[in-house]
Amino acid sequence: MNEPGVVPVVVDAPQHAGLNATLDYLCDPPLPPGSLVQVPLGRRSVPGLVWHRRLGPSADLPQLRAVQSGMPSLAPLGPAWMQLVEFCASYYQRSIGEVALSVLPPELRKLDNAQMARRLERLKNSAALPAVGEAPALPRLSDEQATAVEQLAALPAGDTQPSLLQGVTGSGKTEVYLRSAARALQHGRQVLVLVPEINLTPQLEARFAERFAGRRLVSLHSALTPAQRLRHWLLAHLGLADLVLGTRLAVFASMPRLGLIVVDEEHDPSFKQQEGARYSARDLAVYRGRVEGLPVLLGSATPSLESWQHAQQGRYRRLLLPQRIGGGALPAVRMLDMTALPRPPGGAAPSALAPALQQAIEQRIARGEQSLLFLNRRGYAPVLFCGACGWKSGCPHCSAWRVFHKADRTLRCHHCGFSERVPRACPDCGNLDIAPIGRGTEKLEEQIMQSLPTARVARIDADSTRAKGALQARLTSVHAGEIDVLVGTQMIAKGHDFRGVTLVAAVNPDAALFASDFRAAERLFALLMQAAGRAGRDAGQAARSEMWIQTWHPRHPLYAALKAHDFDAFARGQLQERRAAGLPPFSSLALLRAEARSAEAAGAFLREAAQLAAQLPGSDRVRLYPPVPPPVSRVANVERVQMLVESGSRVALQRLLALWLPQLQALRSAHKAVLRWAVDVDPLAI
Ligand SMILES: [Zn+2]
Ligand SMILES: [Zn+2]
Repeated sequence: MNEPGVVPVVVDAPQHAGLNATLDYLCDPPLPPGSLVQVPLGRRSVPGLVWHRRLGPSADLPQLRAVQSGMPSLAPLGPAWMQLVEFCASYYQRSIGEVALSVLPPELRKLDNAQMARRLERLKNSAALPAVGEAPALPRLSDEQATAVEQLAALPAGDTQPSLLQGVTGSGKTEVYLRSAARALQHGRQVLVLVPEINLTPQLEARFAERFAGRRLVSLHSALTPAQRLRHWLLAHLGLADLVLGTRLAVFASMPRLGLIVVDEEHDPSFKQQEGARYSARDLAVYRGRVEGLPVLLGSATPSLESWQHAQQGRYRRLLLPQRIGGGALPAVRMLDMTALPRPPGGAAPSALAPALQQAIEQRIARGEQSLLFLNRRGYAPVLFCGACGWKSGCPHCSAWRVFHKADRTLRCHHCGFSERVPRACPDCGNLDIAPIGRGTEKLEEQIMQSLPTARVARIDADSTRAKGALQARLTSVHAGEIDVLVGTQMIAKGHDFRGVTLVAAVNPDAALFASDFRAAERLFALLMQAAGRAGRDAGQAARSEMWIQTWHPRHPLYAALKAHDFDAFARGQLQERRAAGLPPFSSLALLRAEARSAEAAGAFLREAAQLAAQLPGSDRVRLYPPVPPPVSRVANVERVQMLVESGSRVALQRLLALWLPQLQALRSAHKAVLRWAVDVDPLAI
């Protein structure tokens, strides 16, 4: 029990609070848990949250200072929300205060109670519901869709087994989301829909808005202005918004009437936060569903192997949509064996596209259909090379090549951003004949324009869509049929519903087959399946839709599974390999990273950290690997070294991390050369 008039508060200051302790403050009358407050800390005044329980030792009463101000006009955050934050902090090894305050809209802290009261008044008055038009006619469900919808509707209240909706691209997963959402709304509940990327929110938002005219829908993602983000967050928190659609940070939206969480494209790596608390929004959504006793619906054509295995073992309910709706066929997958092509005479560079693929594209153009060429490398060429002396366009600050961008004649580092004009001659020997090696999207676009001079070609990648509105403009012209050939990176592979595309080609996907990262194959398969899914979405054209793979390894098992559209076969094969190698989901991983000006300094910190870990109870159940540099070890003149920590038991790993990390805070002060260190629990790449 707390002393009367004393409240536990979390603040974002781990150096004062320890990792997971609350601080006591006088507050009379005491504000309820979940209240925003401003408290003195040392000489500063910092924002905090009254917590629902005291963690760590309580302070002596005479030393206590008083809460400076509160925000009683704003309803406090609920106990389930605090439990979610607490779980996130402990699982991903951050402080509760850091997590709690970082997931709230920053604008909240800029208002005092009177300003907040006025704002809430305005919000309640102005937030008139959109006018209700005629209810849209509902599309007829396929048998599989109907079965999935019925199964979800039949769940008893409080059932918290997550459901995995595994449906091929074009099978109508969104319609299942919409029907489930409609049910929750009818019961007076709110619905949270998580999507991996901001780019994909507008089209999903449009579908939800159309279906649920008369309901208030808000979005939550990092592209909102601070004022928009606050407004949307408040509408959700007050229960005035019925639907919240957002990216990973929306998993923390405060929603008092929440009744359903949908995670679309649940396998997508974007759900993992890559800095601060490195949480997985997908995993937190599952936890949130369990705590709040509500259904969680995960959807994907290519589920993460973790989720897929849970479904196999019965921990998740498995719902299948194996067919495209409207009788659309999945595109036929064709392997183009590049080893069988004759070499161009005289050592000339091979053309971007094999002749057969080039002809297939020409046929599409003649028929007025669209083709989509996918190459996961932006820029013109990944490196410039001097044939006379062997110079390559390395980045002076990173262990990486600088990419040649022809449009603005720059050499640009994609890791640190360092950019220079392309030198006219080799900086080392003066040779004028420096040449681009390899191919990025910019060069592919140029080559397509040369080989198909009458074709209307467009490119979509991070470079071509940097200007505001550029992406939308390009997508619009693709949809309007003004483009014959669309070239792009993975930005074009995901989600977009291109009705006129009947040919998708992966120009050079092989590299990921042999990458050192154990998840590379899983990511490649998902990306290719998604890219293939862009073709033949119009049932009338489905029969002649094709996906082409240009490969030097046409008999690789990954491609065989792709050809058969057999995700389950691919997943079984991958899981066998992972089991044999003791990799997730058959083990739990954490990655300890250190950064310093020298690799020696970073490595020394990690080696000493390993010695500390070895002395901790339970360390016999956890394996620490020797520190190694990651694939790109130096970025912006900082050396990075990482150490893999592995255990067959998630609990054993968590226990060790909880004991170990506080020691590392102290160890860091003895290693002044270490600039930063961090732990990544369940890392996506190693
Ligand atoms: Zn040279
Ligand atoms: Zn660089």
